[in-house]
Amino acid sequence: MDINIDLERLKKDLETLAKFGRDPKGGISRPSFSQADREAQAWLKERICEAGLCHRRDGAGNTFGRLGGDGRAVLVGSHIDTVINGGAYDGAVGVMAALECLRRIKESGMTLAKPLELVSFTDEEGNLVGDFLGSRAFAGLLNKKEMERGVTPFGRPLKEVLAGTEFSLETILAAHKDRPEFEAYLELHIEQGATLETEDIPIGVVERIAGKIYRQCSFVGKAQHGGTTPLELRQDAFLATADFALKGTQLVATKHYGSLITVGKVTVQPGSFSVVPGKADFTLDVRSVSGETLEVLDRKLQALAGDIASTRGVTFFSKIIDRTVPIAFSDRVIGVIEEECRRLSYPFMRMTSGAGHDAQIVSGLADAGMIFIPCQDGVSHAPDEMIRWEDLEMGANLLLRALIHLAG
Ligand SMILES: [Zn+2]
Repeated sequence: MDINIDLERLKKDLETLAKFGRDPKGGISRPSFSQADREAQAWLKERICEAGLCHRRDGAGNTFGRLGGDGRAVLVGSHIDTVINGGAYDGAVGVMAALECLRRIKESGMTLAKPLELVSFTDEEGNLVGDFLGSRAFAGLLNKKEMERGVTPFGRPLKEVLAGTEFSLETILAAHKDRPEFEAYLELHIEQGATLETEDIPIGVVERIAGKIYRQCSFVGKAQHGGTTPLELRQDAFLATADFALKGTQLVATKHYGSLITVGKVTVQPGSFSVVPGKADFTLDVRSVSGETLEVLDRKLQALAGDIASTRGVTFFSKIIDRTVPIAFSDRVIGVIEEECRRLSYPFMRMTSGAGHDAQIVSGLADAGMIFIPCQDGVSHAPDEMIRWEDLEMGANLLLRALIHLAG
């Protein structure tokens, strides 16, 4: 059957959505429950209703648009929140393409055996309390105590962010109770890496998503005078951090190639020109597609930090601030996506995602799968995030065919 998305309409939707939360400092800042998000949600509701879909929001602010009656649905979606100074495509592509697919199916008058439901998850980006607030609420995976303690990275308690909205900690924690019954979930997303672009392949069929362990770490030494303290008497917390970052990277590269380690943020104290750093706080992001490797690496890195601390006369502290386990997507859904790719004669490759997505949370509840399209230079979470429209067209057409296949 020959049914295709309307690229011009999809493009216009993405361009309109990108106007909500335009940030004078660059890009788009549209965290969930912000003013910009409220405006975007109102606009999305209009689009969903205009398309003849049934609009609903759950207690976590997840937005749904349903096509068809009772029964186990095929879910399709992503998220419309952005990081601060983010781009116009991360997440947005998946939600607007899902809307376009349901709109086309409705317009075509086609009848499918199963209902379809669009979903736009709240706070995928973790601007509130950890990543995937909406999909974790949807899956019933949130912890009440953590939520009550929840403070956003910007220092505002979650409770305060929710004040004045129709949502509360209680409604978020109860959101999973009115989850629709569904048997599959599909998500279209930009790759957020440069593999597809480098290989010149428009479609990535995601097999796995890496798990991660995030730690907040510190080396504590002694702040001493940079002009009077001999090198051998120093307890330099920054040098310990640098040593750890280098040796840790060597360890991953030589013993666990394919896994990843990133020390992304370092702050030293007192942070003066001529003072030996007495304290260095840093973030440690470790990822792997193997749960076992992730655990082994975490242990080895903690041991390495301990060794470096004793050699350099400093003390090491660390605590886990977030962790996710690696997941593998459903063979059935991967099979459907690949079959439809072949029918459409779209070049594709299987790949692993190092970045996390709502699909990994949802994959615990039903068969899930993801389709990636390239983004320019692999850039995401930045104002210059960019895609090629022809790639989006292919990705959205593939999503449409896969949806029909799964619901037909
Ligand atoms: Zn995203």
